[in-house]
Amino acid sequence: MRWVGALFLFGLIFAAIIFLLPKPEGFPILEYHTITENPMEGSEVYNVTPEEFAAQLDYLQQNGYTTITLREFMQAKHGKITLPEKPIILTFDDGYDNNYTEMLPILEAHDMKAVVYVITNELGKEGYLTLDQVKDMQGRGVEIGSHTADHIPLVMLDENILLNQVRYSKIFLEWSGLETIYTFSYPNGEYNLDLTKLLQQEGYLTAVTGDVGLNTLDSNPYTLKRVHIRKPRFGITEFKWRLLKAELAEKIKSIFNF
Ligand SMILES: [Zn+2]
Repeated sequence: MRWVGALFLFGLIFAAIIFLLPKPEGFPILEYHTITENPMEGSEVYNVTPEEFAAQLDYLQQNGYTTITLREFMQAKHGKITLPEKPIILTFDDGYDNNYTEMLPILEAHDMKAVVYVITNELGKEGYLTLDQVKDMQGRGVEIGSHTADHIPLVMLDENILLNQVRYSKIFLEWSGLETIYTFSYPNGEYNLDLTKLLQQEGYLTAVTGDVGLNTLDSNPYTLKRVHIRKPRFGITEFKWRLLKAELAEKIKSIFNF
């Protein structure tokens, strides 16, 4: 059983190295979906209740975090503004109606900012935001982004369909009276180099992925990393773990240099 001991020792040394590494630079972007007491069937794992969400915002506030938008991230990247000491971005994928009815009042009560990514062909359907709600949110300071027209994973798509998904969703929102849409969220978080180029060509300035980690002003703005906030089973402790997980991901990457 000598190898068990060796493996244990190796694990211990590895854990110690990770622990001793300096806190990685960068700020988290949180990925939420629904905020409701009664999630739709099948979406329970992605749901955070209003009470849990309020507790998470309390935690962020008490720990010195300041919410920013992706627009502000880009302004800071170009030296137009300075970021707060501990920035954080709250993003919401898919454009569920409870982002308006449940999330927005809690967000405003905390005087915080958020980014909501809508699937344009779902707007107005049951469970999703209406166009008027999206406009009202934007008017109240929520940044609106595109999560494509139909939420089809993009990496395998034919070029024409792909272009439609990326271009149509942006144009639809802008022609519906919203301000320019600068940010994008990849369906299922999947992306590749061609996609990042296409987004740039189509006038998007930033895009968020499903990769875990932290972001800095030097990060590629088309492959921003996020921390997925799922239904917490261990309350606010789990929320803290998830923030730590992003730091851990960066530490491990720094060891293996990828
Ligand atoms: Zn999605």
